[in-house]
Amino acid sequence: MSDLDSLRIWDDPRVRSALSWYLDVAENRRPAKFRIAATIATRLDLSKSSEDALWAELDRLTPIFLGRWRVIRAGASLPPAAEGPSLLEIARELAYRMLSHCNFCPWDCRVDRVTGAKLGACKLASGSRVSSHFHHTGEELFYRGTQGSGTIFFTSCNMRCAFCQNGDISTDKDNGEETDPRTLAAIAWMLRREGCHNINWVGGEVVIHLHAIVDAIALLGRDFTPTQAELKRARRTKADRFFFFDELPDAATYEGRFNAPILWNSNFFITSESMKILRLLIDVWLPDFKFGPGRCAMTLAKTPWYWDTVTRNIALIAQWGEDFSIRHLVMPNHVQCCTYPVLEWIGEHVPSALVNVMAQFRPDNFCDPASAKYRDKYAEIARHPTRMELSDSWQRARELGLNFEATTFERRHLFGMTATV
Ligand code: SF4
Repeated sequence: MSDLDSLRIWDDPRVRSALSWYLDVAENRRPAKFRIAATIATRLDLSKSSEDALWAELDRLTPIFLGRWRVIRAGASLPPAAEGPSLLEIARELAYRMLSHCNFCPWDCRVDRVTGAKLGACKLASGSRVSSHFHHTGEELFYRGTQGSGTIFFTSCNMRCAFCQNGDISTDKDNGEETDPRTLAAIAWMLRREGCHNINWVGGEVVIHLHAIVDAIALLGRDFTPTQAELKRARRTKADRFFFFDELPDAATYEGRFNAPILWNSNFFITSESMKILRLLIDVWLPDFKFGPGRCAMTLAKTPWYWDTVTRNIALIAQWGEDFSIRHLVMPNHVQCCTYPVLEWIGEHVPSALVNVMAQFRPDNFCDPASAKYRDKYAEIARHPTRMELSDSWQRARELGLNFEATTFERRHLFGMTATV
């Protein structure tokens, strides 16, 4: 057992129940889902099969995967990995097929990102860039633990939030370093062996890098060990490379093989096809749920179909019995139109979900009056939320009976303060 399991937050039965699979994988009591997917064999010749045939095979094998996941959850041991191609490689192959007519997200641009002759809304071809990676100590307590969340920040985004709190990387697709899947796998391998409790894929937005991430995870599922040259490349974007971390290989293995919970930290503006692939690989989901059902996603983020897409995807992971927690950032002047409907939807559809109703909005990106990027049309959110807006939001969450206080106020608990608002 690492020190993650000894944190007092797990004494809350609702937290433990919502994240029990994640905690078991983080503590290497269970294998990550990518290791299970590697045990499900396929006879398809992947490179010669049509995309339709690959989807049909994924659909055929997914119930087998889920059955295996269920018995492993209950304590069964992990069978040996398939000798030939497996469900893991089908996921990888499908992600690359999708890349050639990109439908990773609902923009459904249908551009061929392999040739890169035309770009879609995310402005990316096939290359992926990593801005930085490090032991993140600012995530929720159950993710950051004591050793940090092994967070990998990708550039660019498929949304255009005017207030983006990571605008430097989401609006600058050329930030950071181009990073191939082997280097990505090396980054994840290194972070986990340094004790990180999970591998946290984030941006910008991550789904626009689906092919590279699935490829990296597929390598990790096939006993990838990085070369010295790959580790050197991985260190180029390591923001905490001047800190010393003990290498703890035993903290990174299940039955002697690499193991780490995969955390999907995303805006959830994702197609059903991408979700089907991710279902096989993600151990814990961290969706951002920002906007209500009105026009705010359009006026503040130029994103159509937002509410329908994000609610569908959150309902899906709940129906699938996945581990997840939801983030909602309270925005100034958007409590009535965004915070309340978001919280009400959660109360009605996923009432036991862990929710972080976050207070840390700051005027940034196009909403920062001190920045040259500032636009007058965003004046309504060019300030911090007021105490009243925050307390109204938390009060509404409380009235709805949401499971939010342990997550939202955990730092106050840590320091022995009460969670009053
Ligand atoms: S990831 Fe989304 S925005 Fe980017 S090309 Fe694909 S469909 Fe378009």
